[in-house]
Amino acid sequence: MSARVLNGKILASKVKDSLKSEVEKLKKEFNKVPKMVNIVIGQDHGTCAYAKSQEKVAEYIGINYELKTIPADVRQEKLEDLVCALNNDAGVNGIMIHKPVPDQINYNLVANHIDIIKDLEGINIANIGKMVLGETKIVPCTPASIMEHIKSTGVNLRGKEAVIVGSSSIVGKPLCLLLLREFATVTVCHIGTSEAGKLEGHVKNADILIVAVGIASLIKGDMIKKGAIVIDVGINRSENGIVGDVEYDSAKEKASYITPVPGGVGPVTVVMLMKNAIEAFKAQL
Ligand code: NAD
Repeated sequence: MSARVLNGKILASKVKDSLKSEVEKLKKEFNKVPKMVNIVIGQDHGTCAYAKSQEKVAEYIGINYELKTIPADVRQEKLEDLVCALNNDAGVNGIMIHKPVPDQINYNLVANHIDIIKDLEGINIANIGKMVLGETKIVPCTPASIMEHIKSTGVNLRGKEAVIVGSSSIVGKPLCLLLLREFATVTVCHIGTSEAGKLEGHVKNADILIVAVGIASLIKGDMIKKGAIVIDVGINRSENGIVGDVEYDSAKEKASYITPVPGGVGPVTVVMLMKNAIEAFKAQL
């Protein structure tokens, strides 16, 4: 039996519609809408294309979106001053700093200057702490997108074996916390797991498998448990275009649900940013 495909564009569109009606209600009640600012340093083409897609989604939902492009040679203190000014601007509800940043910028340091209540990507150290304690609704966007996909299958995560391959601070680690909130039993694999020759053994146990590594076709169908839910986060350029970390055709024969690449996790990620902007706005009302 072939897996059902978790179409990110369809899911994104459903979530977008529900966020749009939430913003309409908020506008009626409070006579204002959320405003977010995206700080882009330099004008890298890829970065701007991504910002453009954010702008389109924000506009659809009814969020006021401002793109602040600042020169590539900006100094750390100047950037921190800008963040502080936005923190103090009552008309701004959410702030994000687009990655990558130039070498002279310490990203984590700037991120920690963002007011915890305006931290749209949940990357401020205080928000990470709150996430560990389960106390914040603002969570990093990619893990939030992954959770949205998993929940769309209707699976009850309680007691399920969830295996994450990839332990980065932006995907694997925060995702582990979100899965724990749902009482899944979570295993996090990484380069050390592969070096020890134990990756396949863990992957085979997964009821829910999430792969975020950045190696094309690292996970093959024969490594996957029959009926598993497979979420492929990887984005790799290949001669066949963009591919994920999971060998799609063979995995599709084993999984019950699978996300495609492209068109799976990615489209929902940008919508989760807008969800965070609405949460930030509500927290500031
Ligand atoms: P990263 O480089 O920060 O982390 C990679 C992780 O993979 C590390 O934990 C590392 O230990 C592990 N790893 C490396 N080789 C391995 C191996 N052979 N076996 C097992 N684990 C191994 O990467 P990241 O920023 O988390 O991104 C991972 C992938 O997800 C990339 O392809 C990236 O483009 C993609 N991504 C997609 C989205 C999205 O919204 N769709 C968002 C973020 C990242």
